[in-house]
Amino acid sequence: ILSTRHLMTMDDLTDEDITTILDRADLHIAANAAGPAAKKHGALRGQTVVNLFLEPSTRTRTSFEIAGKRLGADVVNISGSASSIAKGESLVDTAQTLDAMDTDMVVIRARAAGSPQIVRRNIRGSVINAGDGKHEHPTQALLDLHTIRQNFGRIKGLRVAIIGDIAHSRVVGSLGRVLSRLGASVVVSGPPAFLPSRPGVFGVEVASSVEEALDGADVVYLLRIQLERLGSLQLLPSLREYSRFWGLNAARMESLAPHTVIMHPGPMNRGVEITQEVADSIPARVLDQVASGVAVRMALMELLLA
Ligand code: ASP
Repeated sequence: ILSTRHLMTMDDLTDEDITTILDRADLHIAANAAGPAAKKHGALRGQTVVNLFLEPSTRTRTSFEIAGKRLGADVVNISGSASSIAKGESLVDTAQTLDAMDTDMVVIRARAAGSPQIVRRNIRGSVINAGDGKHEHPTQALLDLHTIRQNFGRIKGLRVAIIGDIAHSRVVGSLGRVLSRLGASVVVSGPPAFLPSRPGVFGVEVASSVEEALDGADVVYLLRIQLERLGSLQLLPSLREYSRFWGLNAARMESLAPHTVIMHPGPMNRGVEITQEVADSIPARVLDQVASGVAVRMALMELLLA
């Protein structure tokens, strides 16, 4: 049982909540690997979960759907272009409509920061933020914590380098702060236009160069350039330049300690934040993150609705 019924931001979760979710996810990882009979169970039988995705998504939407189905819930998917929001309906009316259908949980992804709160105020069920603008993406942070804990057995004391478009990334909004809250040190690097104006808000420190950020890193976390959130590309170096100055290439890979884990929330833009050859050569942590995603979302949905 968690101290909250909703997940809007990582601040909604206490440290104990986080441990409860990650421990429960470990059980689901084991069950998911144990074959069809073990991976499906009925904790949420009779409950209705609506995935309201108003921005594109591959991993998050699919993994919420799979998680809900493995728990026996009835899962309904609504996408922005196929919903009445495309006909001008407000989010308030959409939420009230879902509430009138006795929806037990709404998982929402939206372009505007704060959209999950609007849904929460208009529905009796639980609400999960699956990414709101450049604000937060708390289930991504939970799955990243899970993958990191799987690799190192702890979070405290690790050094995590986050490279790329920090300022427009909701992933950093959730992950940066929680990592530092749990005792990791987080250092970021990227082009000046991509650095946060107030790094302290993200709980991160800005390195003076990418080399300095990578030096001694236990985890290197790469981010995609959030092209859809950049008003103008004028501040951006060309993608080739970006790749040369900040991309993870073979030489930078060689400078890392052998135990360093490379992570990426996806979608990955090969040839930009990571070279084609490095993307092909890194151990499959990125897919471990995806597997953690299903397990962590199962744990979260189950615990929120318990
Ligand atoms: N999939 C992540 C998100 O939705 C990261 C990204 O899109 O770059 O924020």
